Amino acid sequence: MKSIALQTLADFADGKLGGPADAGSRLVTRVVTDSRKVQPGDVFVALAGDKFDAHDFIPQVMNAGAAAVVVNRVDATWGTDSCATVEVKDTLVALQDMARGYRAWHQPLIIGLTGSNGKTSTKDLTALVMGLKVQTRATLGNLNNHIGLPLTLLSLEEGDECGVVEMGMNHPGEIKTLVDIALPDAAIVTNVGMAHIEYMGSQDAIGWEKGTLPTNVHAEGVVVLNANDPYTPLIARHCQATVFTAGTDAGDVRAFDLRPGPDGTHFKLDFAGEVVETFLPVMGDHMVGNAALAACMGWAHGILPADIAAALSGARLTGGRMETKTVQDILFIDDSYNANPDSMKAGLATLASLSTGGKKIAVLGRMGELGIHARSGHEGIGQYAAGLPLTAVYTVGDEAAMITEAAAKAGLGETANFPSHEACAAHLKKILQSGDAVLLKGSRSAGMEKVLAHFKTA
Ligand code: ATP
Ligand code: MG
Repeated sequence: MKSIALQTLADFADGKLGGPADAGSRLVTRVVTDSRKVQPGDVFVALAGDKFDAHDFIPQVMNAGAAAVVVNRVDATWGTDSCATVEVKDTLVALQDMARGYRAWHQPLIIGLTGSNGKTSTKDLTALVMGLKVQTRATLGNLNNHIGLPLTLLSLEEGDECGVVEMGMNHPGEIKTLVDIALPDAAIVTNVGMAHIEYMGSQDAIGWEKGTLPTNVHAEGVVVLNANDPYTPLIARHCQATVFTAGTDAGDVRAFDLRPGPDGTHFKLDFAGEVVETFLPVMGDHMVGNAALAACMGWAHGILPADIAAALSGARLTGGRMETKTVQDILFIDDSYNANPDSMKAGLATLASLSTGGKKIAVLGRMGELGIHARSGHEGIGQYAAGLPLTAVYTVGDEAAMITEAAAKAGLGETANFPSHEACAAHLKKILQSGDAVLLKGSRSAGMEKVLAHFKTA
């Protein structure tokens, strides 16, 4: 972070500063919540989780040279000779307040990003495009929640002019909390799907929640919505900011003439009449849609279409998202980071679209957080897969068996359910040949990348 006086940070959090007399004028440059990562000069915020309370680690943190600890109680045994204390009512709220205060003090351009699918991928692409014009920093990996988002804001460095922040949600009201901390100047909603329906109740509730981000962008700001999403007109009507749309075969920024291949997709991007040839080195039509959103955000900020296209051709995404790896001349599409019905369909469609001539095999795990929609969700995927030109669908684990059962019932010839990743990998080793392609996908809890691990060690 930009160097800031400890007193200023303490004021943001409405905290009581204690410890050495000079503590308030100390300049600090980093806020951390993981006690193992504390380095000399850091500010450590002691959060209390379900399993542990970071207040227990304060002596270690002080030993590691922390400049200050943000705590909800001060213990006389800690000994605050060199380390200052910032006493607050609630350390989580303090972290969020510090981030909000820091964001307002630093004054970067903040682009918030939410949606059911493709947040992290679109975040990476947006940061790449915005980086052409302004020094940009984005959420690291997937740190998109009520703790990760404040830490992302607090990580903005002195020269950073733009922060691209991912906002995730599982429960109603969560996006509002994040919006109130980040105060976004611009927003992207990737789509409104079925993710987290267990806790959200209905797709309308998800749509409403997603709308919280763009409708809270101020009148001078920019909102980019998915031209292919049915909720877009409704959300757009409630925005004060200037709204652009982007998508596949529709939108102010429109991707068309998609030519998919095993290395990625060649396509054209139409920026309100100016057409540029583009290549995205990531597989999947859905990724092209994400790229169109990112391109639109850059274009709305005055970046030239040709420059955007050139940048996209060098894109690298966070791991486990349509990541291709070739082992023994077999193409593995590692999309194992997570799954819900929409992203499952996107992954299966991508596999099916390959024209490599070899077998096309989907290896799927369970989808979590579907609640009462678990059976229909899994069976729907089986039926969807049966309608695609796939050689086989295999699943790992009991819940995922609902996919293969439905696929078999719907007429897919080759299906099997395996009790373990190992058993599945053993079967694959018997049947895979050079030129074949395998999609690995399931919720994070399904750990489908473990199937690939058996090939690497082979
Ligand atoms: P999370 O909610 O876990 O943070 P996310 O919204 O950040 O997820 P990504 O990490 O970008 O999404 O991608 C997660 C999965 O969704 C990957 O399997 C990816 O291939 C797929 N995906 C990405 N973009 C889309 C999209 N526009 N539509 C459907 N699926 C998508
Ligand atoms: Mg994410």
